[in-house]
Amino acid sequence: MQRPISANTEKPTQADVVIVGNGALGLFLAEELMERQAGSVVVVGPNDRDAGASKAAGAMLGTFGEVTADSLRTPASRTRFEIGLRAHERWPDVINRLEPYSSSGFPLQTATESHVVLNAIGAELDTINFEHMIKALDEYDKPWSEIDPKDIPGFKPRTDTRALRAIHVPGEGAVDARGVLAALEVRLDEMGATRINQTVRKLIKDGEAVTGVELDDGHIIEAGAVVVATGARSEALVRTVAEDLELVPMIAGLGFAMLAQRTSGEPFQSVVRTPNRGFACGLHVVPAGPGCEYLGATNRLVDEVSSVTWVGDARYLAQYAMQQLDEQIAQHEVVGWLSGNRPVTFDGFPMIGWLPLPGLYLMTGTYRDGFHCAPLLAQHVANELQGQPGVIDSMFNPVRRPIEIRTVEESIEEYVIHSLAAWFETGAEAAPQMTTTHLAAYYRARAREAFDQLGTEYAFGPDVLWSAEGSLVGGRRIARYLNRLRGSASTLTPVGSGIGDAR
Ligand SMILES: Cc1cc2nc3c(=O)[nH]c(=O)nc-3n(C[C@H](O)[C@H](O)[C@H](O)COP(=O)(O)OP(=O)(O)OC[C@H]3O[C@@H](n4cnc5c(N)ncnc54)[C@H](O)[C@@H]3O)c2cc1C
Repeated sequence: MQRPISANTEKPTQADVVIVGNGALGLFLAEELMERQAGSVVVVGPNDRDAGASKAAGAMLGTFGEVTADSLRTPASRTRFEIGLRAHERWPDVINRLEPYSSSGFPLQTATESHVVLNAIGAELDTINFEHMIKALDEYDKPWSEIDPKDIPGFKPRTDTRALRAIHVPGEGAVDARGVLAALEVRLDEMGATRINQTVRKLIKDGEAVTGVELDDGHIIEAGAVVVATGARSEALVRTVAEDLELVPMIAGLGFAMLAQRTSGEPFQSVVRTPNRGFACGLHVVPAGPGCEYLGATNRLVDEVSSVTWVGDARYLAQYAMQQLDEQIAQHEVVGWLSGNRPVTFDGFPMIGWLPLPGLYLMTGTYRDGFHCAPLLAQHVANELQGQPGVIDSMFNPVRRPIEIRTVEESIEEYVIHSLAAWFETGAEAAPQMTTTHLAAYYRARAREAFDQLGTEYAFGPDVLWSAEGSLVGGRRIARYLNRLRGSASTLTPVGSGIGDAR
């Protein structure tokens, strides 16, 4: 139903809260604050959501579908995993609340269940993550069942990449991300929030306190509190007032996905996905409204936030979808090319909390499942803005030592297994005498060399290692951070270590 609401877009000079960033995190927070009648709320962000992640998301509401060997291995990872679990419970209410504000012509929830397939093209990593997924479902006593892959509606891969196993996970569906964002905006307009179609050039400081924002056209808005929720651009914006602040570095996880209209064959009725694999979020198809399917997604840690799409990524995604999901996808008509930057932190964990500059709050670092987690995070941040206890663990405070969940040796082995997964999935070929063991040894040596050059004991994830050793700029930035970290050992709070716990 389209509601005739006029948006409040006039630029005020003052507000109780200015939220910078109009992705899922910013909009859900604005809604939560308006719901609580927490004063005047302004959201600043460009209408096209340039380079943002939320507009490109498949918006799978996946908790167990996202599980990897790391998810429950340490207390910190488990705490992170349980954010998704708790966020999941909120979605039925979110959908009921937003549906009346949607004008897309089809339900916001586009799928109510998932099928996770295990095929042989992604190497050993798939099997490991698939087994951890089942273990996690059992541990949390959630329903799932083994299903013959042939019985999954729409799933018609090529014979040589057919799935050997599959599980059905009821309750892990998906929403139309773009529809949810649009509905949130209509609801915010109705509730009286102000939305400004611009970007913030810099934050404004008075003494040590942040007192407002300056827009690109020079207009200034004074604020009681400023929340930075600009996704992969969050660190850069914070740095406009706090150049030396010791934040966990942010990296952009550039992702590409396609929206395509089916022209033949049986449509998918559920999310169908592989486990997370090869430095990325797994191959998936998500029903996206009448006749339409979302094909996702690539992930490439890059030095600069941008909206470009790599031709190689377009090729991977098209090829993998045709091979591994449904051969008929070759005849799909692409109606939307989606690209966005996941807000990735150096340690892979969110950064959510007050910064040492009074009046400044940071809300980002959600990586692969920020759309899903947004309603819970909104409640947490609204509580903290109102001086109430938060609902997530304080270990995700942005000013921290990077959270440790692995040893260097484990990191190297993870890098090896992800590299092999990417090697086989891309169809790379080596000389016949080069066995998988040789390949593994090659990747192991590369990873070890990268760690030796960085001279660090801190074991970051395989995706960060991949970006550090693939880019001089990225590698140097990480090296500088690790150097500073050694020097600041006593001033930052160590958190979450727990290496070796809970295995
Ligand atoms: C291809 C892809 C697929 C994904 N699939 C899923 C999925 O299935 N499920 C899931 O839960 N998550 C998924 N994610 C991850 C999820 O999208 C992110 O974790 C989440 O959306 C991050 O939201 P955000 O609001 O923090 O950032 P963003 O969505 O990036 O929003 C930030 C906004 O701030 C704006 N902005 C930037 N700088 C400024 C400035 N200076 N002033 C004002 N505004 C500014 C940007 O234009 C943007 O609109 C996916 C991401 C990608 C890229």
